[in-house]
Amino acid sequence: MGGSLRDLLADRPVHDWDLATSALPEQTRSLFPGSVYENEFGTVDVDSGGDGIGIVQVTTFRADHDYADFRRPHRVEFGESIERDLARRDFTVNAIAWGVEPGGAPRLVDPYGGRDDLATGVLRAVGDAPTRFREDALRMVRAVRLAAALELTIEPDTLAAIGREAELVRHLSGERIAQELTRILETPRPSVALRLLEDSGLLAVLWPDLAAQRGVPQNKIVGEDLWDHTLRSVDAASTPRIRLAALLHDLGKPATMADGRFVGHEIVGADLARRFLDDLRWPHAERDRIVRLIRQHMFGYVPTWSDAAVRRFIAKVGRDLLEDLFLLREADNVGSGRPPEPDGLAELRRRVEAQLSAGVALDRRGLAVDGADLIRELGLPPGPLIGRILDRLLERAIADPADNTRERLLRVARSIAAQGPTA
Ligand code: ATP
Ligand code: MG
Repeated sequence: MGGSLRDLLADRPVHDWDLATSALPEQTRSLFPGSVYENEFGTVDVDSGGDGIGIVQVTTFRADHDYADFRRPHRVEFGESIERDLARRDFTVNAIAWGVEPGGAPRLVDPYGGRDDLATGVLRAVGDAPTRFREDALRMVRAVRLAAALELTIEPDTLAAIGREAELVRHLSGERIAQELTRILETPRPSVALRLLEDSGLLAVLWPDLAAQRGVPQNKIVGEDLWDHTLRSVDAASTPRIRLAALLHDLGKPATMADGRFVGHEIVGADLARRFLDDLRWPHAERDRIVRLIRQHMFGYVPTWSDAAVRRFIAKVGRDLLEDLFLLREADNVGSGRPPEPDGLAELRRRVEAQLSAGVALDRRGLAVDGADLIRELGLPPGPLIGRILDRLLERAIADPADNTRERLLRVARSIAAQGPTA
C-alpha cells in the first residue's frame, strides 16, 4: 500500500515496502520473532529474511488524528479498516492498497481513483485539498516533491489550494522541510520541483532569499536571471551536497547588487547559507562544509599563478574541500552557459594535484617543527604567540618548501620571537 504500491503500479523501482494490518503492534511483534517496535505510531519493522526485500514496515491501520497547528497529528488511533486508513493519506496515488481479508480473495482497495490518476499522470489530494493542507501543511511541499519525482501534474484544485494555503508552511519544523528538500535534490532534475515551488507560491514563504533571485539580472545567458542561473547550476551538480551548495551559492547576490556587480556576495552568501541550513536543523558538519564552499566559490585562477600561489590556494580552501569546490565551480560554469572546465580549471586541478603529491607542507601538521619544539627550543611560554609563530612559519614553508627544515624554521621563529609580544 501507499508509496510502494504506487511505485509498483507506475513501473518504478520500489524502495521500501509498507504493509498495513488490523493486528495491533504487539500481535505483529509476537508473530515475527526479531521484529522491532520502537515508536508510538504503530509501525513494526519486520525483517523479511533473505529474499532481497529486507526490512518491511508493518503498520496497524490508523484512524482519525488530532491535528493541531497545521502540523502532523499529535495522537495516533488504531483503526479497524484499510478504508479508514487510506482516508488519512495525502494523495490519491498514495491511497491505494492491495491485500487479502480473512476468507476473502485478494483485492485492490482504491477508494479515491488513485490508479486512474496514476495512469493519467495526476497528483490529487484525497478529499478536500485545502482541508487536508490545513491538517498538515507539509503535504503541500510533498505535493511538489512527488509531482516532480513521479512526473505527475498537480490537479488544478489541488494546486490552487496550495496557492491559498502556502503561508501555513511557516508552522512546519525545519527537520520535516529538510527531508523534503533532500528528496527534491535527489530527483533527476531538481529544477523541476524548485520551479514548482516558485510557481505555487511556496518558495516565497519557505525561502524568501531564493525567491528574491527572480528578476535579478545576470549577464550570463541572454534572457535569464539569477534564479534561472541557480536552477541550471543545481541541475548540473552531480552529488546531493554539490546540489545543495549550488542552490545556495549565490544567496548573497540580491543583497550585494550594485552597478551590475555583486562584490563580496560570497561572504554575505555564506552567512545567509548558514542561517538557511540552521533553520532546517541541518547536521552541523555538513552545514559547515556547505558554508565553506560558498565562502570560497569565487576563486579566480590565472595561469600566471606561481606554484606558491597554488599552495596558498590549497591552504586557504583546505584540502578536504578542494574536490567539492571544483565540482561546484563546474556546476556554476554550466549554469552560466559555459563548458564545465573553461579557462584553466583543468590546469588548476592538475597543479593542485602536483602540489598535493609533492609532500610539501600545506598546513601546520606538515611543518618540520611544532608548538612543543618552539616552547622547548626558544624557551617560550605556551600561549597564543606560539600559534601566531606557527602561522608565520607555515606562510614561509608554503612560499618556499626548501625553508621547511627544522634548522631554518627555528631560526625564523627566533627572529619573530625577538620582535616581541606583538609579533
Ligand atoms: P517515497 O517514495 O519518497 O518514499 P512516499 O510517498 O512513500 O514517498 P513516505 O514519506 O515514505 O512517502 O510516506 C509513506 C506513505 O505515508 C505515503 O505514500 C502516504 O500515503 C503517507 N504519508 C506520508 N506523509 C504523509 C502526510 N504528511 N500526510 C498524509 N499521508 C502521508
Ligand atoms: Mg515511501
